[in-house]
Amino acid sequence: MVSDDIRKKINSNIPLDKFEALQLWKTASFAELMQLADNVRNRFHPNKKVSWLIDRNVNLTNVCFSQCLFCNFCVKKQNENAYILSLEDYREKIRVLFELGGDQLLLQGGMNPALNLDYYINLFSSLKREFPQLKLHALGPPEVHWLSVRAKLPIREVLIRLVDAGLDSLPGAGAEILSDRVRKIVSPGKATSKQWLDVMREAHQLGLVTSATMMFGFIESITERIEHLLEIRKLQDEKPDGSPGFLAFIPWPYQRTDTNLFEKYPDMPRIYGIEYIKMIAFSRILLNNITNIGASWLTVGQDIGALALHAGANDLGSVMIEENVVSKAGANYQLSPDSMQKLIRDAGFEPFQRNQNYQAFTRQN
Ligand code: SF4
Repeated sequence: MVSDDIRKKINSNIPLDKFEALQLWKTASFAELMQLADNVRNRFHPNKKVSWLIDRNVNLTNVCFSQCLFCNFCVKKQNENAYILSLEDYREKIRVLFELGGDQLLLQGGMNPALNLDYYINLFSSLKREFPQLKLHALGPPEVHWLSVRAKLPIREVLIRLVDAGLDSLPGAGAEILSDRVRKIVSPGKATSKQWLDVMREAHQLGLVTSATMMFGFIESITERIEHLLEIRKLQDEKPDGSPGFLAFIPWPYQRTDTNLFEKYPDMPRIYGIEYIKMIAFSRILLNNITNIGASWLTVGQDIGALALHAGANDLGSVMIEENVVSKAGANYQLSPDSMQKLIRDAGFEPFQRNQNYQAFTRQN
């Protein structure tokens, strides 16, 4: 049972420290966590509305030098299935996206050594020239860090050039767990925790819209999950007044099918719905300076996604026209715009289609 002190702090919007967070995880019952998180959610979103969006998740290449152990999407450049999308590929994907009523590409790597900063700048500006209404929610801190190393330019300069070329917002991709112990094992080629946070700090200084994520349920400890959440909260506290900072936090469970990580650690415990809901609730409670908590129906399914709305989540993300990474590792759920809205209504909430700034979506022609 949660202590009165911790309960009072949560209900009075006083941030919990690491020790209190650990106590909360250890002592709260499932029902208590859900109730406390629902209270926090109602403070942020008293109107029972749940947002969702239509966007298209596009991986511009499947070649990646990082070879993270949990990723079975990426290949080496010699692989016969290696690809880099052509402008013609983008045109077709964007055409379908617009037809379905969306306007955003969630555009991410691999980190392909053949592609440098100029490539991304040319790509973004070409897409924006041809489709001015298109929104680019693109790359992520590891890619931005890698581009800055390759171009020998400060992160700030790389971000400025990408924004000038058409980057609208920076997803919180590649965070996994912000612990260098964990990262050294699962993704040693990728940005460190500090580098991930440094990129986001610069993005916030520049006023760029960002989100934060966490992939959990592999080799990390509960303490490392808590440290991850507290780092995100601390960085959000640092953002300049008026900068949007992290508009949302989205945790999702590691998808293990056919990954090298699961082969290496076959005994790691599977994350079931209850633990996922606990993490959603826990994130909602700890991140008392981030407005939106997203549930990842794509990785946990519709029923658990709907339950998460009663445990602190207020966003169900995208209908997902295309997704390549987690679907290769076992997440194979699909949802149309109508079934997304029905799911939200059936859970007792009112759906509203949002844009990348978490405001009501309006189509620009
Ligand atoms: S998760 Fe991302 S960075 Fe890691 S190997 Fe896959 S594509 Fe590359």
